[in-house]
Amino acid sequence: MNIVYLTTEAVPFAKTGGLADVCGTLPKVVAAQGHRCAVIMPAFSSIDYSSQPIETTDISFAVPMSDQKLIGCRLLRSHLPSDPNDPEDAAKVPVYFIDQPQYFRRPSLYGDANGDYHDNAERFIFYCRAAIIAMSRLGWPVDLVHCNDWQSALVPALLKARSDDSSKLPTVATMLSIHNMAYQGNFGFDAFPWTGLSWDHFRPDSFEYYNQLNFLKTGVITSDVVSTVSPTYALEIQTQEYGCGLDAILQGIKQPVAGIINGIDTNIWNPETDPNLKRNYNANTWAEAKIDNKLALQAEVGLPQDPEVPLLGLIGRLAEQKGWDLILPVLREHLTESRPTQWVVLGSGDPKIEAQLRELSEEYPEQLAAYIGFSDALAHRIEASSDMFIMPSHYEPCGLNQLYSLRYGTPCVVTQTGGLADTIVDATAENLESGSATGFHLNDNSPGALDHAINRALQLRYHSPEKWKNLVGVGMRQDWSWRKSADQYIELYARTVSLNR
Ligand code: ADP
Repeated sequence: MNIVYLTTEAVPFAKTGGLADVCGTLPKVVAAQGHRCAVIMPAFSSIDYSSQPIETTDISFAVPMSDQKLIGCRLLRSHLPSDPNDPEDAAKVPVYFIDQPQYFRRPSLYGDANGDYHDNAERFIFYCRAAIIAMSRLGWPVDLVHCNDWQSALVPALLKARSDDSSKLPTVATMLSIHNMAYQGNFGFDAFPWTGLSWDHFRPDSFEYYNQLNFLKTGVITSDVVSTVSPTYALEIQTQEYGCGLDAILQGIKQPVAGIINGIDTNIWNPETDPNLKRNYNANTWAEAKIDNKLALQAEVGLPQDPEVPLLGLIGRLAEQKGWDLILPVLREHLTESRPTQWVVLGSGDPKIEAQLRELSEEYPEQLAAYIGFSDALAHRIEASSDMFIMPSHYEPCGLNQLYSLRYGTPCVVTQTGGLADTIVDATAENLESGSATGFHLNDNSPGALDHAINRALQLRYHSPEKWKNLVGVGMRQDWSWRKSADQYIELYARTVSLNR
């Protein structure tokens, strides 16, 4: 099959979250199975072009955004970095960047300190339209376009409307993957004319959502198939509690919402070869190596070096979703009651949470190291050095850090939601006995439940070392590589393409 991925993020070029990990890896794994893949994304100025060579192409065109406004762009080309296990580079996946300085050369992808950019509707309608034109200029016929999140979610509707942009494309099957239901791209109806379509298309069965233009809803209702990134989240988003207003629409679409868990890039996240670590290790050698890594991390972040003290790691966006309302009271309790734990936190986001973490780390420098910012290398070291990883998200479409934690021998304390529920098996007596346990579930979403789950983990770590060893080993030996998930995507692509014919 010939597949085009539309996304605003893909590692190593642009990343704010898990979407980037998916779109930087899945196309390579699918291509390695013999399919032709390409990625089309905006040429944001924050893109790190240093890791891969980038070239200009002779493809340029203009999109008539309104009668008075013809917006030109050109395509740049690079490719996803090759897989060291694929020496012939058979799966080389081109990435086309839509270079439009006025829309995309900005300090960040979606907004700045004042909030979202005011012209995001216009920017991403342009991206959708330009991506359709780019697809028709690739020089090969596209069987399926895989849209990701709201920013590319208008593409199925634009294709179905047979707009001027898509007139040169034969019929293309469409799929929309939802990586986070909470971000929908909901704008006033006055943004609609940027689509270049007549107002007859502004209807509830396509672009209109309560007199607004909602990108994600438009994608849900017009794409041939909708997927999301874990089986549990696929069910959750069809309920009022998690559906963010789109639950009824998701229940009503023809094909059931598919839930496919994300894989991880096992070349980048491999404790045996990870260049960021003081000492590499595997499922047999983790116990001593993790202590060395812990001592090194303690020195790096300024915590007292102590091989015995439990080190609790946290990495992620400082956003309500990630359960900071549970974490902060429990953390405060550990610090003020001088409980023998150390915490290392890496994250950025909500300025209020950033301030609280800064204050606490200044007050309790011996117990809390808070690094406010984004650091891939430090993330690897926290995964490798911590005794346990804390991830009590209120909702988690898939989650990647718990998968990295499994592979790095760092059991997770998680809420029972979305991908966390699908990937972490609670250390009940029964599951420990059967050898399936890999982590610790909270009984409910409260600080008390988080504290209780952390205590269960500490108890096992320090009082049942054999059971802890088994739990770590079971997690480390699991296979969370993309291969299995990619097979599920390929099956879904094939089904969708054949239904479209
Ligand atoms: P989400 O997409 O909701 O942010 P995920 O767990 O799916 O959460 O993916 C987050 C990804 O971003 C992971 O790879 C995580 O390690 C990484 N990440 C998040 N915050 C930081 C940070 N401050 N520094 C380094 N990596 C980070």
